[in-house]
Amino acid sequence: MEPSTDTPIPAKKSSQAEVAMPATDFQPAPIPKVSRYLSSTALRGLNRLGDVVCPGDNKDLPLFSTTDFAFHADRMLSYMYAHDRDGLVMLLTLLAWTPKWKIRALLWLSERHQKVPDYLGGIILRTLYVGLRGMIFTLYYSKLEDRNNQGEKIHKVIKWDATINPRPEDLEGASMYLGTQSGNQRTQSASLENPSAPQIQEVFSKAREANASLRRMSVAERLHYIAPLKEIILRRQEEILDVIQRETKKSRSDALMGEIFAVLDHLQFLLGEAQKTLKDQKIKTPLALMGKSSQVFYEPMGVVLVISPWNYPFYQAIVPITTSFVTGNATIYKPSEFTPLRGLVESLLQEAGWGSDWAQVVYGEGETGKQLIDARPNKIFFTGSVATGKKIMAQAAQDLIPVELELGGKDPMIVFEDANLDRAVAGALWGAMTNTGQSCTSVERLYLQENIYETFKEKLVAKALALTQGVDQDGNTDMGLMTTPAQIALIARHLEDALAKGATLLCGKQWDRQSAAIPPLILENVTSEMLVYSEESFGPILPLFKFRDEMEAIMEANNSPYGLSASVWSADKVRAVRVARAIVTGNVSINNVMLTEGNHHLPFGGTKNSGIGRYKGVFGLQNFSNIKSVLIDGNSSKIEANWYPFTREKYQLFSKMTAGLFSTSPKGLVSFAVNGLKLEGLSGKLGKQGRK
Ligand code: NAD
Repeated sequence: MEPSTDTPIPAKKSSQAEVAMPATDFQPAPIPKVSRYLSSTALRGLNRLGDVVCPGDNKDLPLFSTTDFAFHADRMLSYMYAHDRDGLVMLLTLLAWTPKWKIRALLWLSERHQKVPDYLGGIILRTLYVGLRGMIFTLYYSKLEDRNNQGEKIHKVIKWDATINPRPEDLEGASMYLGTQSGNQRTQSASLENPSAPQIQEVFSKAREANASLRRMSVAERLHYIAPLKEIILRRQEEILDVIQRETKKSRSDALMGEIFAVLDHLQFLLGEAQKTLKDQKIKTPLALMGKSSQVFYEPMGVVLVISPWNYPFYQAIVPITTSFVTGNATIYKPSEFTPLRGLVESLLQEAGWGSDWAQVVYGEGETGKQLIDARPNKIFFTGSVATGKKIMAQAAQDLIPVELELGGKDPMIVFEDANLDRAVAGALWGAMTNTGQSCTSVERLYLQENIYETFKEKLVAKALALTQGVDQDGNTDMGLMTTPAQIALIARHLEDALAKGATLLCGKQWDRQSAAIPPLILENVTSEMLVYSEESFGPILPLFKFRDEMEAIMEANNSPYGLSASVWSADKVRAVRVARAIVTGNVSINNVMLTEGNHHLPFGGTKNSGIGRYKGVFGLQNFSNIKSVLIDGNSSKIEANWYPFTREKYQLFSKMTAGLFSTSPKGLVSFAVNGLKLEGLSGKLGKQGRK
């Protein structure tokens, strides 16, 4: 992000002259470059504040205003939310006219924030203290370190006040949201953009170190960082929704229900279930191993790489990151380049007290994802398209990295004649159009029993025409817009292809094939030659099909390369369950739609091209763990029967004992006991004396 340099601001004489220049080794930067966010007055305010905080020394540390910080300032400001940035610019503009003694007094006062109760302004003072000093230090530090590699020395001079954030990991976190990228540990950001190979190595080495400390924490201790996260998300909900909507163009209600609610529900699940799921588990020990005991330990895998798509960017960040964290892994998270929610995840985790390296965010495109896999994480958790999933699996195979793939779907909904029609119509419409159809488990094929087809169709189209669309602020709109131009083009292609091959469009005819506001597109007369029949559409397009009987419905539902989710609607629960069993899929809802995802105790994942593995629920937590089997024996002098030396006599006894143990008759058990005892005696003797 290069700042514009067209119009340099002339250095204001007064601001430069006010403080006597110390004699330094540094070449003073003659003119601060123009900033795209700061006016010349605000830049002067920043200079003035900087000179108070970092006056330099007379040897090798320069005065703040002599460093060329504008580029870094711009990068820092680009990570801020617009309203925070506006507030900061206003404050800096005020400081431009404030005498330095007053700025010193303000900082002196803010330094004493701990003595001022919150209700008397303690919070404001603390914010000023941390925010203003933190900003200046970050700029000063990153700039000087770039130029002169003086990081350590400068850091000592800065003497960051440990009373604010006593733990080193919190100190790192303090600069995290600003997104600085200097090479030093303390100001190193927890997020990077298009990192170079050495930077990726550094991300991994930090993650491995973080994993070493996370391993030492109990699950209960880790949950101490989940509880505040839940509170913070609840408190910052509106701000989070703004960011999600800005990037995805969802409706407010879609964002609230699909992202915020679902994330909170997941965190609640972790708080309630993680401890008991991940505690050491006693396992049955068979008769042949009498005297021993068995256990399973759920341990961290190491560094988990999470690569996410653009359709539920908040959910696809927080759910895997927190699952990975609770199981003790360090996480490297690569969001989609289309909906990165830049800075948001870092800011929430930081506020919840997470160490900055526990979950690091790396921004970039597919190439960045590829490079991260090259660095050999201990597990890859990927959500996205089938095409990318295949590439990732092929790459991971080179290093035998375990992969979990959550891929696309072409989910069928089957409605039998005895289903509650109005409910099924409402369910079908929501299931197909939620998130503007950009959901992996949205309904993409609607199978209606032939005698209800016409009535169902009429009701469905009437309801579809009544839907409202837009990116609203108050939750009063049904559907949002499409998120990416590529997805709009894909829907246009599917629609044109279907119409060219004889399908009928029942509603949405007004769509111009370009606008992101794609209305519900309901099609009939769709045949197997059409793209919309078999390929994932991932948009608000829904083909209707007729079926005669149960067998035909099952065959049609299974006639797909995908197997992610499905729904079956019928008053006859026995039939509905029978059909649910017959569908080859990872998830089925009965008399509801997309609802398996709504229960965080249930595992989630696909069959066929829809993916490999399961996450969420107990299985999800276990899948992020190294499941370690442990067998515990006493420290006796006993020599086991299956250890050397092997002799003919031992062989015969072992053979009789085996026959006894695995026989079904009660006599067998007696034979097992007798021969087992003899074998034990013989093994002990042989063990001591050896083969004669
Ligand atoms: P995508 O496969 O294009 O991209 C997903 C992520 O992979 C992005 O972060 C991208 O940058 C990264 N990526 C691309 N190439 C890569 C490579 N070679 N190596 C490593 N990373 C690479 O998918 P998308 O368009 O973002 O998402 C839409 C798809 O996701 C749909 O098919 C949808 O069904 C699927 N999806 C599945 C689930 C699920 O849980 N099963 C959930 C949501 C979305």
